[in-house]
Amino acid sequence: MKKIFIKTFGCQMNTRDSEFVAGILVDKGFRLSDSMDTAEVIIFNSCSVRKHAEERLFNNIDCLKKLKKKNTELVIALMGCTAQAYGPKAIDRSPLIDIVCGTGNETDLPRLIKDVLKKRCRIIAADKVNEKKPEAFPKYRENKFKALVSIGEGCNNFCSYCIVPYVRGRERSRDAKDIIREVKDLAARGFKEVLLLGQNVNSYRAACGKDFINILKDINKIKDIERIRFMTSHPRDAHTELFRAMRDLDKVCEHLHLPLQSGSDRILKLMNRKYNSKKYLKLAEDYKRMVPGGSITTDVIVGFPSESSGDFKKTCDILKEINFDSAYTFKYSPRAGTKSSKLPDDVPPEVKASRLEFISRLQCGISGERNRYLVDKTVEVLIEGTNKKDKAFLIGRTRTNKPAVFKGSVSLTGKLAEIEVESVTPYALRGRIAG
Ligand code: SF4
Repeated sequence: MKKIFIKTFGCQMNTRDSEFVAGILVDKGFRLSDSMDTAEVIIFNSCSVRKHAEERLFNNIDCLKKLKKKNTELVIALMGCTAQAYGPKAIDRSPLIDIVCGTGNETDLPRLIKDVLKKRCRIIAADKVNEKKPEAFPKYRENKFKALVSIGEGCNNFCSYCIVPYVRGRERSRDAKDIIREVKDLAARGFKEVLLLGQNVNSYRAACGKDFINILKDINKIKDIERIRFMTSHPRDAHTELFRAMRDLDKVCEHLHLPLQSGSDRILKLMNRKYNSKKYLKLAEDYKRMVPGGSITTDVIVGFPSESSGDFKKTCDILKEINFDSAYTFKYSPRAGTKSSKLPDDVPPEVKASRLEFISRLQCGISGERNRYLVDKTVEVLIEGTNKKDKAFLIGRTRTNKPAVFKGSVSLTGKLAEIEVESVTPYALRGRIAG
């Protein structure tokens, strides 16, 4: 059977979609390859959120020119957000592509690949953007103890800079019973941690009336699941009920990712984020009070249209005031079809670059300080295996989602351990197994 290689760009939703597609392909008899060079079908799962990610994607595809010349039978498929956004234009952009598979057409991929292999044609399938995925989930999982579990897809928020509502459609919550069935099955197979995924988990609402807090409570009761994480919370919909659940449900990890995007109310309004800095600060304060020792992380965009140095300073001030554990910082880039793409992209590239550098340095200092208070403390980690950057060490993650490196036997992979923290950097903890 044909060998498939999947290259994933973008967020954890995309990682889960790639795993899902790998599963359905394996169930249909395809084999997974760990190298592009030996694969007979290469699938790119794409991200459209930023221009840079899109450029990297097409550069990666263009690099296959030689391989495709050598192996004329090679099939190249594009799936994910860029496939949905571009449709047939993806082939104009890169004529090496044989299949364009939109975000709602992923379950059709095995058939599309077989058709292209048989008929040597090109196929565009990007007509089901608002469809729910079927519940007959394949068993295949990349990890053996941590699982990504989608609780819904799409988004209704239409932040002015964001392409997601257009390429992933309107919000669709999965049935609560299907999510619970999936997590029970994962627990029975030895999984310890689940990461619940949705574009905006706080607006989850099942047809039966259950909301996100109900889902957390139901999963918290599932035997053998040790940790529950979730991503992403929208500040508009996050509330103290969520923080209470994080405090009271023993398996829900003390980590909140709450995208700020900007500290300027004027920019937040232009971004159509539907909250202001006062509301955000109050949420962060409530979270810190109700979940002591919890970590808080965020996303920030610099250089949004008309962002002045005063607006940028307000973002920096909030970073300092909240003391985030970490922040993902990005330069604004207009996405075709979004509202903000119609605004003049008037912050010069060099100003965007210098603001990005400034804010990254600022956050680096804050993250270092935040981690320093953990020195000499003991933290629980779920051991993920050998540290790729230094194979002499293992790596694990704390409940607050901080990476920790330490010495130990690789046979401990997938187990929980207590680590005594000896030193820290802004990005990780270093220590030894307690006892
Ligand atoms: S909440 Fe806003 S940024 Fe997040 S996916 Fe929806 S539209 Fe995009």
